[in-house]
Amino acid sequence: MSSPPTLAKRVLMLGIDGLSTSFMRAPVVADNMPILSSLFEASATGPLWSTFPPYTGPAWTSITTGVGPGRHGVFGFTDHAGRPCSDTTVSVPRLWDYVGSAGGRSIVVNVPMTHPPRPIDGVLVSGMPAPSAEITFPPRVASELQSREYIVDIAVAEGGREGASTLDSLAEMTRRRGEMAAWLARSQPWDLYAIVFVLPDRLGHPWWKQLVPGDGLYESRRAERVRRGAQGALVALDEAIGALLETLPQDTAIVLCSDHGFGPLHADVFFDLVLAEAGLATAGPQTGLHRALARAGRSRPAQFAPRALHRWARTKAAGPIEPQERRAWTTPPYESGVRLADSSDEELRQRVTKLLTDLRTPDGRQAVKSVTRRGDLYGGSRTDEAADLLCEMVDETVGLHNGMHATTPWVSRDHLPWGTHASEGVVAISGVPASRRLEGMAPDIAPTVLGLLGLEAKGLDGRSLVALEPDLTPVAAGSHAPPEGEPAYTADQEAAVMEQLRSLGYVD
Ligand SMILES: [Zn+2]
Repeated sequence: MSSPPTLAKRVLMLGIDGLSTSFMRAPVVADNMPILSSLFEASATGPLWSTFPPYTGPAWTSITTGVGPGRHGVFGFTDHAGRPCSDTTVSVPRLWDYVGSAGGRSIVVNVPMTHPPRPIDGVLVSGMPAPSAEITFPPRVASELQSREYIVDIAVAEGGREGASTLDSLAEMTRRRGEMAAWLARSQPWDLYAIVFVLPDRLGHPWWKQLVPGDGLYESRRAERVRRGAQGALVALDEAIGALLETLPQDTAIVLCSDHGFGPLHADVFFDLVLAEAGLATAGPQTGLHRALARAGRSRPAQFAPRALHRWARTKAAGPIEPQERRAWTTPPYESGVRLADSSDEELRQRVTKLLTDLRTPDGRQAVKSVTRRGDLYGGSRTDEAADLLCEMVDETVGLHNGMHATTPWVSRDHLPWGTHASEGVVAISGVPASRRLEGMAPDIAPTVLGLLGLEAKGLDGRSLVALEPDLTPVAAGSHAPPEGEPAYTADQEAAVMEQLRSLGYVD
């Protein structure tokens, strides 16, 4: 169905989670993704800098709201109370809210942090984190998803157990998402189409060093097998993009963007061990057996142990630590922060800051390059929900990890093929006049997309990356925060969402 657009132009926001130039240049990617390559060649391109932390939840939320985490309220996949974040965490309007109030229609597919699906002018299929049921608005679209065996996500943690079957499942997930996406584009009228494909992120976490040249692990039989196995998934993504592009009416602007880039993971710093040593956290019931099992969870033989055993070992070694027993703790992986039990305790803040900056890499450098208070990093009414201290590591190949399942704070990952997020993502804009070279930040995407649609939302943090027509129509949209005290999830849904985050390695 291609009725004329209500707004100035149609815009496709083509999100690709974790996409970076180093990934696209890797031979296995370049050889298997000709459609993506030619889209880049036909576009104005450049780096898109992620949020801090460079992480899926906050970054996609900034991309789709035009504001930083201090204003939208998403700093990770879980909130300050450790509960899963959801669309209801986001307290500012998103792209499709603005489009709706201007009388336009949106199709939104698989954008992270859009569950539970809420009524919009158009169609919304929730992205992760989401349980597998109840992911569409309007609900009747669900039967279409079912008949196409649509999959929200597949568990791909950096546990290293992932093999050929996971690669095949990733290919299948991507193929089905692509079919669904093209069907929606053809069967529904739309002004804005926003979709996120997750493949580069799901490949990058367990296999980065085997897929992208630059590490010794690239040159091995095992790496060759991984690259061969990944081809199907890469082709599936390229074809999904191609099929979607084929549905686009003439004159559609395409804004391709990623939420963060990727790079090799060389080490994790388990700062909770340091806090325990300093008497600021209890180490939990760490018998020799629990510790050995937890440690084994990170080793190669343990990769073949059942997941339930890993979970049991993790809970035993990491706690449970009652909140009153700890005065400071590290946030989940990728959030790169430390929380204080009492945010007003200045002495505690200084002590923890010193413990962080005293940490050393094996070659004697400062493992944490800088420690920033949340108020100095974020602005906005949600700032106080961030971690008290945000840590910039020595470089982006080092992560800050929570939990006690290590014997030393510095844990090398050099022997493992894992990757991790980097702050340099990509943006590529085509179908509109733009200078060849672009550079932007995550919150710039929303004003760019709105501007191309002929709309302008006042007061966003970002700015358009392309020159816009002079007479934009001002547009406003209400906040959609839920009524006070109304939980986003039932207990069962929350458990399902947490299990999904755990299986992806985003919570421990
Ligand atoms: Zn991501």
